[in-house]
Amino acid sequence: MSAADRLTEIRHRIRRAERATGRPEGAVTLVAVSKTFPAEEIAPVIAAGQRVFGENRVQEAKAKWPGLKAATPEIELHLIGPLQSNKAREAVELFDVIHTVDRDRIAEALAAEMRRQGRTPKLLVQVNTGLEPQKAGIDPRETAAFVERCRSQHGLTIAGLMCIPPAEDAPGPHFALLAKLGRELALPLLSMGMSSDFETAIGLGATHVRVGSAIFGHRDYGAPAETSAA
Ligand SMILES: *Cc1c(COP(=O)(O)O)cnc(C)c1O
Repeated sequence: MSAADRLTEIRHRIRRAERATGRPEGAVTLVAVSKTFPAEEIAPVIAAGQRVFGENRVQEAKAKWPGLKAATPEIELHLIGPLQSNKAREAVELFDVIHTVDRDRIAEALAAEMRRQGRTPKLLVQVNTGLEPQKAGIDPRETAAFVERCRSQHGLTIAGLMCIPPAEDAPGPHFALLAKLGRELALPLLSMGMSSDFETAIGLGATHVRVGSAIFGHRDYGAPAETSAA
């Protein structure tokens, strides 16, 4: 099966999950995670109609995407990996949505770059729902205060929340916690669910699912774990 065939199948499964929870068709955006895959393997997925893609490293995205975006300008690129403040400039230049705002230094650096460049990528706050010490993301108990500081101190509009549940846990309770925080903070977007659990995430309110290997196949080189502080 080709990546384009797998894409079609994932789209069907998303539609079914939307219907099963009484959500309108198109309520969920598929972010096709193309990290570690070269432009030649991404091109057929673009040709099959996919327009929203996720990458987890700024440098890798910078090497691959300007050419692909030049050919298909309506592509929307999402940063789903940890961001360092010294990469804020490139991140704001390249990405349309940043899922991984998780500390004041990053919020401040993004705010400065957005003003300088006049670009306004959508921003999501990453929440460390499993309180894993090695994982990026803000403590769920500090999320409300952080979102408020993003608004009041950094002048940023936060559009939603993102999480990556611990690999060894059932994901449902983590998705439910993220959805509860999103409701409490009146944030419209929820980025949750990957290849193995996106249907569960849709059932719990995901607006964005991040699916990589179920479309592109097994990643067998150079990918840092999503937990690493790249
Ligand atoms: C790699 C990655 C994904 C996609 O993972 P798959 O299991 O391949 O679907 C989703 N989210 C983040 C943050 C990632 O780093």
